[in-house]
Amino acid sequence: MPQFLSPALVAFKKQLVGPTPFIEVLISPKPEGFDLRHRDDGPCAETELRPLQISELATWADFTASGAFRPNKSAPNLRRGWRGLARSDEELELALDALYPGALADWFAEGSGRVPATSFREFTSRQTGLYRRIQDLSDFQAGEVAQAVCHPRFCLRRRRWSVPEVPLESPESKSSVPCWEPCALLLEFARRFARIAAEEPKLEEFRLSEIASLKAALRISLNSGLSEVREGDSGHPANPRRLQRLLARLESSSEDLPPSKEI
Ligand code: SF4
Repeated sequence: MPQFLSPALVAFKKQLVGPTPFIEVLISPKPEGFDLRHRDDGPCAETELRPLQISELATWADFTASGAFRPNKSAPNLRRGWRGLARSDEELELALDALYPGALADWFAEGSGRVPATSFREFTSRQTGLYRRIQDLSDFQAGEVAQAVCHPRFCLRRRRWSVPEVPLESPESKSSVPCWEPCALLLEFARRFARIAAEEPKLEEFRLSEIASLKAALRISLNSGLSEVREGDSGHPANPRRLQRLLARLESSSEDLPPSKEI
């Protein structure tokens, strides 16, 4: 019986002529199938990597190296140190779907000219209940949310849904895989930011040197990558997405002081 392959996989295989990255996974055609591993493990010998069955990949992708749950599978924190072998086209599709649910179809939609992108306003106008208050965010605030939550530090999908005044993201800054509409994590943080926006004091209440200290502390924290806060915990004040938004606000409100004056 002829094998049925999804059009997305057929298109993906056409450009798979050598080792090809797909978000954080590197896929290499081999005589026995397709080798999959973390892209940063590209040069590693097979013996250095833990072999995983294709059926184990979804669970592997559920947790970070420190054991935290990954609510956004496109976050740049896929564990390293593993290797999978897809022995058939079906297994390759299963593997990609386990690591990045829906990503292959989203990638194919862009290449085939179907662009199901939405806008922040269009999407949030359909929200009800708890999420209805997101509609109160101004265009500026909606842009703040998108830039904080979708920052390459937190997500490697390329935002193709629009938000006023904020340019779309490029493949160079993220990956070839588009994101067509706000995800559940973005909605949750947008709801949280709508609440925060009503509480915050005005930035004029801080001195320039205090703002410089705050910015320095935020950058150190964000660059450390050591946060133990659950990714989806929008209520935690130390959630890195909240820190990212605060840093962006402070950066847009003041120039950096010369280092000698930042102390
Ligand atoms: S909405 Fe933003 S954070 Fe969520 S998947 Fe899309 S690009 Fe990533």
